Amino acid sequence: MIQRNEKGQFIKGNKLSPVHIRKLRESRVGKKHTEETKKKISEANKGKRTGEGNPSKRMDVRKKLSNAAKKRTGKTHSCWKGGCTAYYHKKARDLLQVTDPNLNVHHIDGDPRNNDITNLRIMTHLEHSKLHIYEKLEKMIAARKKVGNK
Ligand SMILES: [Zn+2]
Repeated sequence: MIQRNEKGQFIKGNKLSPVHIRKLRESRVGKKHTEETKKKISEANKGKRTGEGNPSKRMDVRKKLSNAAKKRTGKTHSCWKGGCTAYYHKKARDLLQVTDPNLNVHHIDGDPRNNDITNLRIMTHLEHSKLHIYEKLEKMIAARKKVGNK
């Protein structure tokens, strides 16, 4: 079955139903490739594992990419989202003079940049992670309810 997206472009690969996938898998169980098929697969994969057919596997290319990635820190890092949370958390810890690694500083309003003394709360690491897990669960439950009401 050929599938197209809303723009009319082909979608690579077929969408199969789980039942279909299971049947396909079961039909292969216990069967082995013939020598001819093995040869064909081997021919098709030649060079893919080495640098010959795939430059991204070449050591010098890998080294270059890796070095380029190491240079991307702070604002140029792919994970940068307008400010480093860890940095603000460190600021908050310094502010409250928390040095015990088992203690966390929690930002009550959820904004790590708001290091106002009324927005900070010292809690143990366990308490802190529990709190955020419950927060996450509550959000998920709220999102579920919204979907259910539609
Ligand atoms: Zn927190």
